[in-house]
Amino acid sequence: MALSVFTASAGNATALLEPKLHVKPQGVEGGGGRVALTLDACGGKTDTRILSALVDNRIPATIFVTGIWLKRNAEAVEIMRAHPDLFELENHGGRHIPAVDTPQKIYGIRSAGSPDAVQAEVESGAAALAGAGGPAPKWFRGATAEYSPSAIAMIRKLGFKVAGFSVNGDGGSLLGAKETARRIGAAKDGDVIIAHINQPTHAAGEGVVQGLLALKQKGMTFVRLDDAVGNDGTTD
Ligand SMILES: [Zn+2]
Repeated sequence: MALSVFTASAGNATALLEPKLHVKPQGVEGGGGRVALTLDACGGKTDTRILSALVDNRIPATIFVTGIWLKRNAEAVEIMRAHPDLFELENHGGRHIPAVDTPQKIYGIRSAGSPDAVQAEVESGAAALAGAGGPAPKWFRGATAEYSPSAIAMIRKLGFKVAGFSVNGDGGSLLGAKETARRIGAAKDGDVIIAHINQPTHAAGEGVVQGLLALKQKGMTFVRLDDAVGNDGTTD
């Protein structure tokens, strides 16, 4: 169990969870292995380098979108919807507010701060996706991918599996292209990769494409989150 302790702005530190997630490994008989690619669309724009590479190379991905991003990226949403075999859109919250029910800051972002505010973030994200005309989301990933344990329990009660990850591909899209490509290219059988698709001006996006093409070259199969299992009671 990955435990990260942050100092709360109110003075009382709450231990936060950063859940791990894996897909069922392909195993030795399967071939090149199996990984799941998850991409967050927190806000901002669309990295068309990544979106085009996924379409051109037929690489499936699970995209975690916020209500904010959905509103501003209709063209990208249309491309994703036109390829339902490749793209699954899931819930990254209504307003990109961390699903932490005590008041504190995580990576400089103010947490939801109460159970009601966590619930509003989860439900408004799902409503935004429903409003965009797609299938109902089954997975939730909160902003910053950090949670208080009680928030995880609530998200599960609301009917969502919590989407952890096992490979931090782009360090919040702040890494250079080379390091991003190295991290993603090193993914192993069963890994769930996290990176971002909403920062078109960042060097990391170029590395995401390079890393994915390297995995494809190695014979890795890309899968959805359907059979993924996480720890800390996040998916079952
Ligand atoms: Zn995000």
